[in-house]
Amino acid sequence: MGQAQTAIKTICPWRLETVDHVPSGHDPGMRLLRFSDGLEQAFRRYHLGVFLVRMRWALLVAAALFLLFAALDAISLPQPLRSQVLALRLGLILPALALAWLATYLPRLHGWLQWIGGAASLVCGLGVVGIVGVARAHAFPLPYEGIILVIFAFYFLTGLRFMPAVLCGWATFAAYLGMEELAGTPGHVLLYNAFFVGSANLIGTAGCYFLEYAVRQNFLAQRQLQEMAEKDFLTGLLNRRAFSARAESAWRQAQREKHAVGVAMMDVDYFKRYNDHYGHAAGDDTLRKVAQVIGQHARRPLDIVARYGGEEFVGLWYDVSAQDMQALLERMRAGIAALDLPHAASDAAPRVSISIGLAYLQPQPGEGIEDALRLADVALYLAKEQGRNRVVCKLPDRRDATG
Ligand code: GH3
Ligand code: MG
Ligand code: MG
Repeated sequence: MGQAQTAIKTICPWRLETVDHVPSGHDPGMRLLRFSDGLEQAFRRYHLGVFLVRMRWALLVAAALFLLFAALDAISLPQPLRSQVLALRLGLILPALALAWLATYLPRLHGWLQWIGGAASLVCGLGVVGIVGVARAHAFPLPYEGIILVIFAFYFLTGLRFMPAVLCGWATFAAYLGMEELAGTPGHVLLYNAFFVGSANLIGTAGCYFLEYAVRQNFLAQRQLQEMAEKDFLTGLLNRRAFSARAESAWRQAQREKHAVGVAMMDVDYFKRYNDHYGHAAGDDTLRKVAQVIGQHARRPLDIVARYGGEEFVGLWYDVSAQDMQALLERMRAGIAALDLPHAASDAAPRVSISIGLAYLQPQPGEGIEDALRLADVALYLAKEQGRNRVVCKLPDRRDATG
């Protein structure tokens, strides 16, 4: 991946804010379960998308289990222990679960959901430690194993990420030790119990780490797939399919907001002769360099440039004036000339050059992006006919301008 990523970085820097870098499985971002900032934010959104429903169900399952245990307490615990345990279950734990469950339905709070879910989980853990503690105070032999169940739920059911799950698990463990100390549990019993609760935490910590590692791998694989589906392999620019999809939505936006767009077709001059003269590998190299210059002229978020196929490129610039558009394309043409790549077989110039056809228009109702592309193609044909290495602009009302 390393080389391909470098290529993408250098060839299409204007896309980096969305693409970011995609590290391999050996990146410290994987081992430490934290990517670089932009990618980490994207991962968190992905994680939320995957785990939101799971957290909702986990909270419901936890609430149902606590209710079942409350029923068991009501049947089997003596008073006043019963009232105290029920107060903890129904007055503390269930409201915490209910609040966290409600938060899953409030998109405003989604950025805080790991904290909210973590807090609810911690209340459950400490609540169960409290229940065992109250039972100890009344010398009732309530099994402490409930704490182990809760700890496993933190790690494997809640949809908490690694860090919050670990904090909840080990905080509950510490609270358990403190409670047994206070209750005066004999040393050898405490040692065994602590060993079990500690082991549950160790298993949970390791399991949760591997789970999050796998989720992060999945996230990266999905991004890489998306990149591969959208990128042209040779140049790193978008491919034609990705262009069509994005240009279509930019076109509709321009229709709605009544903005003008520039749609340009760019074609390398006498490129067949270039290949014949310098070889196909040199041709590929030249296409990469040409693509890089083209990419440098589409830096705003809504600008789109792509390799249309072969030695043809296409671009859409949103909400620009006709003069700015022509000036930009003229700079692009000059930028490619400035690469100063010799082209001995060209009749247009002694170096590699491109012809550019521009369609400048405000999308009308009933018009589609394909109409603009057709117009740009006509302009490109004129640019070729007029001697190549130039920009020709065509307006839909047939007032033509040559640059
Ligand atoms: P014109 O100035 O009229 O555009 O002439 P041209 O020779 O550039 O146009 P033509 O369509 O006849 O030839 C395009 C050439 O582009 C043919 C093909 O060998 C070359 N080509 C297309 N894709 C690639 C590629 O991926 N790598 C290389 N090296 N060459 C390519
Ligand atoms: Mg050509
Ligand atoms: Mg061509």
